[in-house]
Amino acid sequence: MNTPHPITLPSHWPCLPGLKNSKQQALPVGTIYCIGRNYAEHAREMGSSIPSEPLVFIKPMGSLHVGNGYLDLPQQSNEVHHEVEWVLAIGTGGKNITKEQAWSHVAGWAIGIDFTARDLQNQAKEEGKPWTLSKGFDGFAPVSSFTPRISDLSPKELTSYEIRLTVNGQERQRDRLGNMLFSVEELIAYLSSVFTLQPGDLIFTGTPSGVSEVISGDHCVAELYDSQGIPSQRLEYTIR
Ligand code: MN
Repeated sequence: MNTPHPITLPSHWPCLPGLKNSKQQALPVGTIYCIGRNYAEHAREMGSSIPSEPLVFIKPMGSLHVGNGYLDLPQQSNEVHHEVEWVLAIGTGGKNITKEQAWSHVAGWAIGIDFTARDLQNQAKEEGKPWTLSKGFDGFAPVSSFTPRISDLSPKELTSYEIRLTVNGQERQRDRLGNMLFSVEELIAYLSSVFTLQPGDLIFTGTPSGVSEVISGDHCVAELYDSQGIPSQRLEYTIR
């Protein structure tokens, strides 16, 4: 495993609340990786095939919003969808991380929403263009505060955790993390086989079925429930 190159960050760079780096300083955000079609039911509702290896895309830094807030719908789209996702933060970077080592590279996790301009994404798919525009508008990647990884919690236990999303109090999405097609370990191993992961990198791990349009005035609540059914993460995001 190679040691990642150190990088110098500007002072205004956003940090991940709840997480610290190896020097016990605030952990700055790195690259925002996202996984598409990681729940079979969602791939089906999109009319897409089930991928044989992870489908990866990246969101720009300006799409990130940490904590509760507002989304201003972009003028360029007429159909913005919510996608609730479990979001992993990398603590220790590296290249070619094995599945066996992968869990120890996790700093913690949050609940987040991968907002998607579905009309622009569908157009991009038809024309064989990248998804960047449809996924990258300001505020399209909100995340809650982070829970640090608990050393005696195994990735297996996390499979019974649930992610849920309500819009104006009505449930739209709900699934177990165990239904992800590619597990945490597989995602980290796969991403690090291509990219050198850095501390603070985020991985949006994909959305379950139930994605739908949001309109101005909608109030989205994304939550992570632990194996006891207790909400451990919450993100509130209002559309305007
Ligand atoms: Mn997504």
